[in-house]
Amino acid sequence: MANKKMVALYPGSFDPVTNGHLDIAERAFRICDELHIAVVANPSKSSLFSVEERVELLKQTTKHLPKVNVTSFNGLLVDYARQIGANLIFRGLRAVSDFEYEFQMALINRNLYDGIEVVFLVPNEKFIFLSSSSIKEVAKLGGDVSGFVPPEVEKALRRAF
Ligand code: ADP
Repeated sequence: MANKKMVALYPGSFDPVTNGHLDIAERAFRICDELHIAVVANPSKSSLFSVEERVELLKQTTKHLPKVNVTSFNGLLVDYARQIGANLIFRGLRAVSDFEYEFQMALINRNLYDGIEVVFLVPNEKFIFLSSSSIKEVAKLGGDVSGFVPPEVEKALRRAF
């Protein structure tokens, strides 16, 4: 039987994209045949950057990964996965704090759509404690975030605060 094409979806808030996200995106890219990075447009979660700005920052910072498609979606993750023909969802796992939530969501998503597998990737240990919210906090207080985010994001954060 021919090998099935691996079409993957890497979803998240990406508010904004950090070096931790990019580390996961690069690992995901090496594993699958086609990678879609998608900003979850969830109106109930307040964000610093608009969906369009987050998509644009992701596009700029993943330019080195050929054929990565950056988009956004509303609604259920599994519906979007089905719509684009994804058979794999990538999520990043940081320190233990991510585990319980991610484990629960993975099981729920697989119950909703059994055509999908959720795969967890572990970042380089230097990014294990990195989150968009901590970056925003540091940037807001005037701290240097250049080691944590790509230059395009650093600029956008400077403009935002
Ligand atoms: P969400 O609101 O969906 O959790 P995030 O933008 O915070 O969106 O994260 C998107 C995905 O990237 C999640 O799987 C998250 O665990 C992962 N991620 C975020 N930051 C890091 C990091 N520093 N290292 C590895 N994975 C990360």
